[in-house]
Amino acid sequence: MQPAVPIDVDETSGIWRTDGLPMVYLPRHFLVNNHLAVEEALGREAYRAMLRTATAKSAIEWCGAQLRDKGLDPEATFRHYFQRLSQRGWGQFSIDVLDTADRRGSISLRNSIFALEAGQRAGQSTGQRVCYMFEGFVTGAFSFLLGNSVALPSNVEAGEVRCACEGHDHCRFDFAARP
Ligand SMILES: [Zn+2]
Repeated sequence: MQPAVPIDVDETSGIWRTDGLPMVYLPRHFLVNNHLAVEEALGREAYRAMLRTATAKSAIEWCGAQLRDKGLDPEATFRHYFQRLSQRGWGQFSIDVLDTADRRGSISLRNSIFALEAGQRAGQSTGQRVCYMFEGFVTGAFSFLLGNSVALPSNVEAGEVRCACEGHDHCRFDFAARP
């Protein structure tokens, strides 16, 4: 099947765009190799914290732009965010629980690029959770949904609570906002 995301290529500049946003199309191994190189250089926990901040900011900005341009409400924007990530090949996200009153939720991820690459490289499950890059994605999208701006420190906590690399059928992220 063909991609579900619209891709416009500028004839003059060669720039790819989806929903007006410049995009880069690259091999999965390139992205994961870079990811693993930074993880090794910085140490996993330092990189994880840095990545969470950076990707949360990007997710909030992306959602804000979609809200303005598409006229979706915040919850539809949140759902659209994970649909677009799925359509762009990061893995197949599904929102299992989204409780805005209780300020928490849960998202499943099948065929995560990080789990697939780790499986290929190790030839089997690695026994550890490898998809922590998405924790910031979830943090940012949920912060957006709760109405927190980029400038405010996030009170959302999101974690990969199980990973396909540990032998599970799929990965799962739980998230909650502190009062
Ligand atoms: Zn995972």
